[in-house]
Formats: sequence, C-alpha cells, structure tokens
Amino acid sequence: MIRKILTYPDPELKKKSLPVAVINEKTQELVRDMVETMYDAPGVGLAAPQIGVHQRIAVIDVSGRDEKPEIIVAINPAIVHSEGESYDEEGCLSVPNYAANVRRHAKVVVKALNLEGEEVTYNAEGLLAIAFQHEIDHLDGILFIDHLSNLKREMFQKKYRRMLQEGQVTA
Ligand SMILES: [Zn+2]
Repeated sequence: MIRKILTYPDPELKKKSLPVAVINEKTQELVRDMVETMYDAPGVGLAAPQIGVHQRIAVIDVSGRDEKPEIIVAINPAIVHSEGESYDEEGCLSVPNYAANVRRHAKVVVKALNLEGEEVTYNAEGLLAIAFQHEIDHLDGILFIDHLSNLKREMFQKKYRRMLQEGQVTA
C-alpha cells in the first residue's frame, strides 16, 4: 500500500524514532509499504518517520534506471565508521521541489539488521553513503535542510513558503 509522505514543516518529521525491538509480520508489512511508497514517489530512499511511523527503519535503492533494483532494508542502522568528505546535491521526498548541496562523509560503514533479523555490514561510498547518512538523519528527526548554513536555510524557507502559498507543495 502506498502511504502518504509527510512534508516539511510537519512536526512528525522532527521526532526521534525508536529502535525496532522485534521484527515481525507488521514490520514486514511496513517495509513493503515503504518500498512501494519509495518507488512510487520515486525516490532513492525512505525512512519510516516520513510516513509517520517512528521506528528506526529505512529503505534505500540507489540502482540506476537501467539496472536491476537493489533494495536495502536497514533496521536499526548505525554508522560505525566514517571518513572523507563529500559535498553533493541532495533532495528529499519530504521537502519537495528543493535541492541543495550538503556536506557529508564520503564513505561510511553501516551496520543494520535486515528483515530476517540478521546483522549486515555495508561499506558504502558515493550515492549510497549519502543515502545512508540522509536516511539515518531522518530517524533522528533531522532533515537535510538542517545542515544548511543559516543564510541558505533562510533562503530556503522564503522560497518554500512561497511554494506552499502557490500550491506547489501540499502540506
Ligand atoms: Zn529525506
């Protein structure tokens, strides 16, 4: 089932998500919905709080259009190592029609549980490294716009308010 994606400035997006204690049928159903919602949007990642569920779950697929889909289901993900710097353009399904460059680590090692409850380690770089950092931020109530300088964030807020007024974004 495709769920509604919450958009900024919905306060639900600012809440911290709780670790998943048990992976059960409900978790599987939630993940199925998240994957469906992500592909429908379409986006390369979606975190549970974006659909109003405050559990530490993210789904990611950074495969290209002509590649076969590669879904990562990350439950209770944690960055255990990070290195380097990147400064790439990001967008977010919860902040429609806006993109900005964000400073991130270039490489991260992430540990997470999969849907079977097994611990998986990801050595991520490039787009996948950015996606992990972006989605894990969501689980802590942080949006990519929170990483912008004050000036850039003010500019964003002005532009976004105008888009809301003009109905380009429905909150
Ligand atoms: Zn996002």
